[in-house]
Amino acid sequence: MRVTRMEPVRAAALVLAALSMLALRPGVADAGDPKVKVVASVPDLGDMARRIGGDRVQVDVLASGREDLHGVPARPSFIPKLSRADLLLTLGLDAEHSWLPALADEARNQRIREDQTGWIETSRGVAVLDVPTVLSRAEGEQHPEGNPHINIGPQNGAMMARNVADAFSDFDPAGAAEYTRRCDAYVAELEALAQRLRVEGAPLRGVRVISYHADLSYLTEFYGMEIVGTLEPKPGIEPTAGHMARLAEAGRAAGVTMVVYNQAQPAKLAGKFADRIGARPVQIGNMVGALDGVSTWAALQEHNLQALLAALGGGR
Ligand SMILES: [Zn+2]
Repeated sequence: MRVTRMEPVRAAALVLAALSMLALRPGVADAGDPKVKVVASVPDLGDMARRIGGDRVQVDVLASGREDLHGVPARPSFIPKLSRADLLLTLGLDAEHSWLPALADEARNQRIREDQTGWIETSRGVAVLDVPTVLSRAEGEQHPEGNPHINIGPQNGAMMARNVADAFSDFDPAGAAEYTRRCDAYVAELEALAQRLRVEGAPLRGVRVISYHADLSYLTEFYGMEIVGTLEPKPGIEPTAGHMARLAEAGRAAGVTMVVYNQAQPAKLAGKFADRIGARPVQIGNMVGALDGVSTWAALQEHNLQALLAALGGGR
């Protein structure tokens, strides 16, 4: 009798000991599900996470890719995903500033809050462009830390992938060798892709463009294109008639041949402005998922190059 009464107590003690050991292992947040739970802010990072994490990770993605990157509307499904997350992959540089930090707070998951160890900025180590001399949000500035649209520069994929792999290895050291191996193979693919795109994109060198939003910098740097201005007077500020009149004049004077806009912006306005200065409108995606068939990070880079080349070749 005494023995059987002791057993449940002993069993409970063993369970507690086992749980506390699991809690000490950084890679196992939930004893029932050993997969690392990853939430990606945008589909670009979801694609990278699956490529690098393989079967060791479970990946949820928040944005569909069709939204404005700076203003992804919250859906009810976001909070439970964030509540369970071990790691939250972001572009960083405040790209997701207006929607993600507040959701991460709301999810009551201390680990993935901004500036905590589970909030991962994949822009770390990227050579940041357009860093303002005065840091301010006074006028609704969406790029206070420099241009956050790193994901549409083919040159940035390898660094973003390395940051994802490092985050996985830190959290789940038992999988580090696998993450490194998968990341090395993926990065080799991305480097080959970048090399090919650079060759195919050679005709774009020196081409002058105006973009709707200031999201093109990494893309134009990669292909040697020149940005003459943006329809938005500042990132996130609606175009005004006066600004567009001045920009049209500058655009004509500079021989701008393309007006580039993204999936979330008014095609009509971009098209009218392009007509006004004798240029062609070009729609790019500034996230994976932005356009039909653009479901991987590599496909996004490919799509954007082909869209630019098509505009160069003529036809509407
Ligand atoms: Zn932006």
